[in-house]
Amino acid sequence: MRRAQTLEELRAELGDCQRCKLSKGRTHIVFGVGNPQATLMFVGEGPGRDEDLQAEPFVGRAGQLLTEIITKGMKMRRQDVYIANVIKCRPPENRNPEPDEIAACEPFLLRQIEVIQPKVLVALGTFAAQTLLGLKTPISRLRGHWYDFHGIKLMPTLHPAYLLRNPNDKRLVWEDIKMVLRELEGRA
Ligand code: URA
Repeated sequence: MRRAQTLEELRAELGDCQRCKLSKGRTHIVFGVGNPQATLMFVGEGPGRDEDLQAEPFVGRAGQLLTEIITKGMKMRRQDVYIANVIKCRPPENRNPEPDEIAACEPFLLRQIEVIQPKVLVALGTFAAQTLLGLKTPISRLRGHWYDFHGIKLMPTLHPAYLLRNPNDKRLVWEDIKMVLRELEGRA
């Protein structure tokens, strides 16, 4: 089969996905949202309850914080970036995704990244950072440093859901985001 060239084609290829057991409990597949030509792409873990119901990533409380980081912190519009998750269906009780679920779903995220070709990827939280980088290093050590992801600059940072519980660490995320802005503006 011809490889999907656009996000629409990739979404069509995903179809009414039954590739893993998470399909049984989901309301909606949460594919991703934003500008297909975005220079900046955020990758989270997987949909929570709000995302599962609305079919859009990062629309719950953590999502509102991510939106604030984008709009108030970065002075960008949410629709100008692209937002996706490693896992496209909500795990029951928001448990961590399991290896077979990641194996089934990750190829679609990799194709999304390949189609969008952002200048910078931001991995939100332990799960996204460790999955994309294939490392087991704690996020506290990964964050704040640039990594190469198939020729794309990747910055791991703390997950907004973590920041809701640990607001004092927002300053760390702001440091990471400032590095991202410098890179996007070509003054890194
Ligand atoms: N947390 C995530 O990692 N992704 C979402 O889409 C929502 C919450």
